[in-house]
Amino acid sequence: MEKVIIIGTGPAGYTAALYTARADLNPLCFEGDPYKGFLPGGQLMTTTEVENYPGYPEGVTGPEMMAQFKKQAERFGTRFIQKSITKVDLSERPFRVWSGEAEWDAASLIIATGADAKYLGLPSEQTFLNRGVSACATCDGAVPRFRNKPLVVVGGGDTAMEEAMFLTKFASMVHIVHRRDKFRASKIMADRAIAHPKIKVEWNTTVDEVLGNDTEGVTGVRLKDVNTGATRELPCTGYFSAIGHKPNAELFREWLKTDENGYLVTKASSSYTQVEGVFACGDVQDHVYRQAITAAGSGCMAAIDATRWLESHEG
Ligand code: NDP
Repeated sequence: MEKVIIIGTGPAGYTAALYTARADLNPLCFEGDPYKGFLPGGQLMTTTEVENYPGYPEGVTGPEMMAQFKKQAERFGTRFIQKSITKVDLSERPFRVWSGEAEWDAASLIIATGADAKYLGLPSEQTFLNRGVSACATCDGAVPRFRNKPLVVVGGGDTAMEEAMFLTKFASMVHIVHRRDKFRASKIMADRAIAHPKIKVEWNTTVDEVLGNDTEGVTGVRLKDVNTGATRELPCTGYFSAIGHKPNAELFREWLKTDENGYLVTKASSSYTQVEGVFACGDVQDHVYRQAITAAGSGCMAAIDATRWLESHEG
């Protein structure tokens, strides 16, 4: 039986691995299977430059940073398996996890399966990913291509308001494209966005296509009026999808509480779930901060919580 199994990589999973390895728990970490839609390294693998992670004054690419996180966790003995967990049984201890037919038992479990930003599903979004298309203004907003240029944010929730407000620091104008005539966002955030001189709302409008070319990346969007069907082009150098995130929590729903947005619920200021011995960290349980640094911090918390919990339940 394993003392601790970590499901998921990304800053949370790798940090949980590092700390549990240094606590002599010989962690086994399931990285995810790239061929089954689970990217080892998580969302940072699709990020170009990371400039807001302390300790990298010159910036670092997301994949490079994740490679270093992994190397550090490996240095202290973490074992990695490049498979996705497809089934869990948390009804009793030891907990059981499966990848296909293969099964493992664990005294404790750390869930770090992350979340995925949602996109509209246009092929052109994927074509220009990281070349003007992003789902994280905090991560990417400050890069030169977005400075003093018109930008587009799609969505009408709090994320869209927050992303748009953040982008006003850099953009010449931020266009929020929303499919209805009313925002879903909290009133205070919506009012603030609507009143901002650098924000213009394109009501009752959807993005039909992201426009661009190989050399420049994104050069604009084609918008469609939902009432008339009329289309028009809006020049911009950035397109930010802010239509929500999907936490990767389906596997655990039968056993663990989720909130109204599907995120795993942890006890205040800890990584404890309601099943003793099961801990959650990173974006699968955090819809507020969603940063590499906060995910890493919560991975550390999960490792310390699991270590202490195991100590008090051993023997
Ligand atoms: P939400 O689900 O609240 O909003 C998603 C938005 O995207 C909606 O306006 C929705 O439109 C729109 N949308 C969804 N799918 C499509 C589509 N296919 N085409 C066009 N538009 C689409 O997600 P958020 O990420 O904004 O927020 C999630 C949770 O996190 C909320 O509870 C929010 O309050 C919270 N949050 C809090 C923050 C804070 O307090 N600082 C910051 C960010 C998030 P429609 O309205 O028509 O459904």
